[in-house]
Amino acid sequence: MTLVLATTLPGEAEIFASVQGEGPSAGVPCTFMRLSRCNLACVWCDTAYTWHFDGDDHPHRGGETFARIPNQMRMEAAEVANLVASLGQQRLVITGGEPLLQAPALIRVLDLLRSRLPGLFVEVESNGTTRAPPPLDAHIEQYNISPKLSHSGNPAQLALIPERLRFYAADPRAWFKFVVATPGDVAEAAALVRQHDIPPDRVFLMPEGTDSATLRQREEWLVPLCLQHGFRLSDRLHIHLFGDERGT
Ligand code: SF4
Repeated sequence: MTLVLATTLPGEAEIFASVQGEGPSAGVPCTFMRLSRCNLACVWCDTAYTWHFDGDDHPHRGGETFARIPNQMRMEAAEVANLVASLGQQRLVITGGEPLLQAPALIRVLDLLRSRLPGLFVEVESNGTTRAPPPLDAHIEQYNISPKLSHSGNPAQLALIPERLRFYAADPRAWFKFVVATPGDVAEAAALVRQHDIPPDRVFLMPEGTDSATLRQREEWLVPLCLQHGFRLSDRLHIHLFGDERGT
């Protein structure tokens, strides 16, 4: 059973230890595992190397497409589990791309890891368009769901599936993280929160941006909007610490 992973360099899987940069676990030490492939195509996606491969004509802000071979690699589940275990962290963040597209291989990796790291806490970052099948869901302690608003460029019927949003809204393990670039995006997020009964205290607003100056500027106007709606604010620590780099 193989996982399709993103790479930091050709032939090197993007599996690394760092601190979580966003959302409810910001600052917590963890191992990150970045999977390749996505079912959406956000124009501002900062990990376009996981899906915007040569020949893909979805618009993307950078205009760049990526050669598939150096940016994607297959690795056996046992090898992935060994690599994660070797990094010695008690928290695993599975991200992408959209990691829930690879449920069968993830189940195998997590089955293997549970015996190696009995106290492992598993966090999954997802765009919220899919659900984990029960054997995978049973391994997951926390979901970080990031529904994509209209400024992402995705059709709403693909990105905002009411049944899925309501499912995660009802799950106390699920946090919601809306990426926003303008106050209008916040208004759209607030409408979705009301419409789908998402508890406001499980909602983060996070500025879209891949440099510190942009994040800081947007956080200034986001604070009063968080106060107004009862939402939380998420920074992007890894951008301030390391810049917009792979493997951080
Ligand atoms: S859902 Fe996430 S990984 Fe997929 S295109 Fe959008 S930002 Fe990128």
